[in-house]
Amino acid sequence: MRARHKPWAEDFLREQTQYVELNPTAQKGNWRAQFSKNQPIHLEIGSGKGQFIIGMAKQFPNINFIAMELVKSILVSAVQKAVESQPDNIRFINYDAKDLSELFADHEVERIYLNFSDPWPKNKHAKRRLTYHTFLQQYQQILKDDGDIVFKTDNQGLFEYSITSFSQFGMILEEVNLDLHELNDPTNVMTEYEQKFAAKGQPIFRCRARFPKK
Ligand code: SAH
Repeated sequence: MRARHKPWAEDFLREQTQYVELNPTAQKGNWRAQFSKNQPIHLEIGSGKGQFIIGMAKQFPNINFIAMELVKSILVSAVQKAVESQPDNIRFINYDAKDLSELFADHEVERIYLNFSDPWPKNKHAKRRLTYHTFLQQYQQILKDDGDIVFKTDNQGLFEYSITSFSQFGMILEEVNLDLHELNDPTNVMTEYEQKFAAKGQPIFRCRARFPKK
């Protein structure tokens, strides 16, 4: 995602304490208490400009959503959308997913969403893919035993890599869809990337995978 330089991003995020968690590691094990209602937590990693998480928060008021984004100037757009629509079940964090287990206690999260994650097409960069096994290890640690990962992408190479990575890790693929929009699923909330690729007629891939019970 293109990040326009926004020198004011840091100050803006600092002011939005209604939505932005400025010291996220301090909330480890205590995330549920950061929301007005004590209910399950769904985490989106790489939330971009936030259309998905805001749409999901509206559609599922009984879930608390956490949107994690690495790039401040991109996170700003998502927080601005929240300030406009005022959901009470979203928190935003500026954080790198590689350090996820410093942020959540074991089993603190019910579901993880990965939407249009950076594909890192070169093999030498495989470690950076959010579905590489070192990431899966952390996801398993923070997810509830029956928690799952929902993954959407337009990128066939990343999709093939990811379902292979899930299955090599012993995960159970509960859904694999090679053309999501053909389903006309009324509950599907499109991300910014999804909208762009779908408008060009590209198929969108989705899968849902669960870790085996320990
Ligand atoms: N989900 C959005 C954006 C997809 S682009 C959409 O579908 O429209 C991928 C996003 O993931 C970018 O905004 C990028 O900054 C973010 N990202 C990449 N690596 C990350 C990491 N390690 N931790 C958190 N966010 C990351």
